[in-house]
Amino acid sequence: DTKCEIITVGTELLLGQIVDTNSAWLSERLASAGINVYFKQTVGDNEHRLFSVFEKAQSRSNIIFVTGGLGPTDDDLTKDVAAKLFQTNLMTHSSTMDKIETFFKKRNLQMTENNRKQALGFEGGKVFKNEVGMAPGLFFEHDGTWWFFVPGVPKEMKYLMNEQIMPYLKEQGVLTEQLYNRVLSFQGIGESTLETELHGLIRQQTNPTIAPLAKDGYVTLRLTAKAKTIKEANQLLDPTEEKIMNRVGSHFIGYGPVSLEEQLKILLEEHNLTLSSCESVTGGLFSSTMVSLEGASSFFNGSIVSYSNDAKEQVVGVSKEVITQHGAVSEPCAKQMAHLTRDKLQSDLSISFTGVAGDEVVDGHSPGTVFIGISANDHAEVDYVQIKGDRQTIREEAATEGIKRLIK
Ligand code: ATP
Ligand code: MG
Repeated sequence: DTKCEIITVGTELLLGQIVDTNSAWLSERLASAGINVYFKQTVGDNEHRLFSVFEKAQSRSNIIFVTGGLGPTDDDLTKDVAAKLFQTNLMTHSSTMDKIETFFKKRNLQMTENNRKQALGFEGGKVFKNEVGMAPGLFFEHDGTWWFFVPGVPKEMKYLMNEQIMPYLKEQGVLTEQLYNRVLSFQGIGESTLETELHGLIRQQTNPTIAPLAKDGYVTLRLTAKAKTIKEANQLLDPTEEKIMNRVGSHFIGYGPVSLEEQLKILLEEHNLTLSSCESVTGGLFSSTMVSLEGASSFFNGSIVSYSNDAKEQVVGVSKEVITQHGAVSEPCAKQMAHLTRDKLQSDLSISFTGVAGDEVVDGHSPGTVFIGISANDHAEVDYVQIKGDRQTIREEAATEGIKRLIK
């Protein structure tokens, strides 16, 4: 079993001046390749502490990744300290040196002794070419433990991992297994009910593992299998999926994440209902979202975009009284918009949006105020939401809020 450890080097990391994104990225990259990361250490640019961190890692891990401190400056100590632990020498890697010399010559810059430091590798080790920066990646095997060193600059670290080190590990037969995910989505069942239904199964399962997660309006289960090939992964995933389906299959809505509008579509189709909309503040955004769904014509009848007060009165038929007494941004107006449109467009349900997207107060309502009306069976309900953000955000979120209300 490989025990992997990540060491990030740099005093700025300890001071919080830079956020250690490298180790998070590395963890995820290694986990998806089926390598277990057991420990992480972060250490400043200090020779003694660096040495003790390296010693600790050497004593408990088989594969160690070190990022940072490979550069040309005096505080870049990683290689010196590692060489001391490995009881080896640093020696100039000639093609890296050529590359650095060419870089300086081309720019007519004077090379300093420090720049030569970047071309140093371990005697008896290996060098991985860095095609996006100066300092190469390094490898050394010490007492059966594999050490990889990559620069701290995230772009260079990722390049070396993806293009050089992971292929090398594969070649060496380390990456025999990978993680394969399958996401199942369920609707009409809460996360805790789902967990209760699957009681035992979730706990017993080790390969694949099952992880429930509540999303916006639905719940997903992520099955993760560790396998050598996709085929082998499927052989592990299929029977587990079947067991899950036997218990909660009636709530299954699809593989992968499901958008809100797709959820709405599923519900409308399931209950054989049609929908229409009347839009002021959203200006067609809601209907545009609906018609982007495959087969929309079977559940979405259409929309009236009535932006001005005149359009609300003349096209939709909102009463003059409502507009003058309450204003267009009001509960009574949203109610009439929904009711009248449901009738005009002959749908089972209708939704209306009226609100303030600009940055001025309208009818006593502050920016971001949106009334959402839903009409069904001669009964209308109006909800009020307050949305923060610019014009576009307010319009988009209003449409999203509308979909959420229809799903409920
Ligand atoms: P260089 O050759 O550029 O000096 P290096 O290998 O010496 O590279 P560092 O000097 O430690 O690496 O870091 C270079 C830069 O990379 C830092 O200033 C920082 O912006 C970024 N960096 C270093 N370590 C991390 C980390 N763990 N997470 C995210 N960014 C990092
Ligand atoms: Mg540096």
